[in-house]
Amino acid sequence: MRFDARHIPLQRLLLILAGLWILASATGEAAAKDWNTYNIGGRSYVSDENVAKFYQFQRFAKEGNDRIFQHPSLVMTWRVGSQSIYVNNIKFNLSFPVIENGGKAMLSTVDLAKLVDPVVRPSYIKKPINFDTVVIDAGHGAHDSGAKGVMGYEKNYALDMALRVEKELKARGFKTLLTRRTDVFLTLGQRVAIANGQRNAIFVSLHFNSSGSRTAEGIETYALAPQGTRSTDGSSPWSSPLNGNTRDAENIALATSVHAHAIHELKSVDRGIKRARFNVLRGINKPAILFEGGFITHPTEGKLIHDEAHRQRIAEAIANAIVKFRTAVGSKR
Ligand SMILES: [Zn+2]
Repeated sequence: MRFDARHIPLQRLLLILAGLWILASATGEAAAKDWNTYNIGGRSYVSDENVAKFYQFQRFAKEGNDRIFQHPSLVMTWRVGSQSIYVNNIKFNLSFPVIENGGKAMLSTVDLAKLVDPVVRPSYIKKPINFDTVVIDAGHGAHDSGAKGVMGYEKNYALDMALRVEKELKARGFKTLLTRRTDVFLTLGQRVAIANGQRNAIFVSLHFNSSGSRTAEGIETYALAPQGTRSTDGSSPWSSPLNGNTRDAENIALATSVHAHAIHELKSVDRGIKRARFNVLRGINKPAILFEGGFITHPTEGKLIHDEAHRQRIAEAIANAIVKFRTAVGSKR
């Protein structure tokens, strides 16, 4: 029987994000002796069986090219040849595809360390930031209007969203700082400087998407690409570490929480958690993500985003996600 991750209720996903999934084997750091690594084509990999054993999944199944790792509160699926995996039906884009070797499905150790581990057990992230402030960045502004949608401009939707997220976060006890509160232009460098000027903060950049095709729709969330990996769009790897790479684990955990809440609460199309090297992400030394809240060029989604009740629901989802992220990584105020 094929296990269908769509039947996992939201509460279970949130349990994981809250770091309540205490693994029996997880007594501390993932010791090197627990991992048997393979060098394949100059890259380091771990096997499906090793992952199943290390995290003590109760069920591990091979179904053709698919691998299913199952725990009462978590289902992860891989597919040989695919560059995405699913955790509780949320889509994650890997830095490298899952490959096959001697009947085993192999995951790169970069994706193990930079994606699977912080997503599956966020409470093990080392020295997470203790934040009480959220820097909220409304994308674009003034002459930079961003995407032009079926009903309006990205810059206006992004600013409205930022103000709504601020209100929701304040109601949940956070301090907030907006990079802009009006229709003004800021360089990307200015946005980075505002974030880096805060001590105990995380950074969330808010955007809406566009496409010439008009059929593209859904939500996607970006975290900085790890050192030496391609972006999801295929841009070449950067060999030198970036400011933002000091927060790789927190970046992906924050992206997971925000993306999962948005997908579940809004029932939007899931375009996945992606990797990029956007200026705002690479320059910031705090946990940072860039959220694309839907396509304003899509005839239906564009109208939905124009509706302020919908933007309010997105804002509430983001605020709920930030509360969950703080709990999940065990950060204290
Ligand atoms: Zn934008």
